[in-house]
Amino acid sequence: MSTRPTSRFLPPVCCLLLSLIAAPALADGEVNIYSARKEDLIKPLLDDFSKQTGIAVNLVTGKEEALLQRLQSEGANTPADILLTADAGRLAAAQKAGVLQAVKSDTLAAHIPASYRDPEGYWYGLSVRARPVIYARDRVKLGDLSTYEALADPKWKGKVCVRSSDSVYNQSLVAGMIAHHGEAKTEAWAKGLVANFARPPTGGDRDQIKAVAAGECDVTLANTYYLGSMVDSRDEAEKQAAAKVAVFWPDAKTTGVHVNVSGAGITAHARNRDNAVKLLEFLAGDSAQRWYAETNSEYPVNPAIPPSATLKSWGEFKADTLNVAKLGELNATAVQVMDRAGWK
Ligand code: FE
Repeated sequence: MSTRPTSRFLPPVCCLLLSLIAAPALADGEVNIYSARKEDLIKPLLDDFSKQTGIAVNLVTGKEEALLQRLQSEGANTPADILLTADAGRLAAAQKAGVLQAVKSDTLAAHIPASYRDPEGYWYGLSVRARPVIYARDRVKLGDLSTYEALADPKWKGKVCVRSSDSVYNQSLVAGMIAHHGEAKTEAWAKGLVANFARPPTGGDRDQIKAVAAGECDVTLANTYYLGSMVDSRDEAEKQAAAKVAVFWPDAKTTGVHVNVSGAGITAHARNRDNAVKLLEFLAGDSAQRWYAETNSEYPVNPAIPPSATLKSWGEFKADTLNVAKLGELNATAVQVMDRAGWK
């Protein structure tokens, strides 16, 4: 039974008081977000922000490309103050398209390591997603795994599942490789990897993990939060699939694990710029960062906040320190490399 009092138990004066309490929310203004993150992955945080500051948050969710196109076509008339996306490559594309503005904030600089934000402040990472190797516990020995590079070795022939080259997560991974090894070496690697595919790329990261669990392939590359959501899933089949795989952190002795960020930038024509800065500072702050770690199975961007129990169970890893802005800069080259390598 609900413990919340219903209105018939409350004298009329309460309602007047409630509306007075609610009033500052309007007086403190608003902030408008275009978000490519799903509503349930951001809404609870936005509600918290409104409660704490009295600033109303209006959320429009959509696909990454559609939101960017919308910002471009709306130009100075856009109602959006913030663009929120799930990949540094997307943020860099938005910056390149001229729809973001540079913002300096001591709070953001203090909470977000330099490699997870744009050097000029056009956008800031808010959560970290790692893309390690996920392997079949029963068929792969730990000693067989070392680096991303080694997955192109013929010994993995017919044993690799990876989603398509349309995935910006893979594009960013390849962009990171190009930054470290150059275009030619990365293309040779991509060709080797494609030659090892167990099947033509199909489905999302979660589907690759399931394919490994089902024995269709032995290894995949996937963002950890997908595995996290399977471990914590209410769906018994997903839980069982997650139990059949494990995380391997590649490149521990070299460049580190490929990481990316979800993040946000303030739009070039933001009408509520100050509120938008306040919201980004809130999202980089302790309570929001803890929420990312606990609820979303993402790594906090703020190093002061510990990861969740699920994330801790996979152990610590060395993250690539390449500035994630590079992933955006090299995105077009990465797409060409994957195309030439025959990565569908
Ligand atoms: Fe995702």
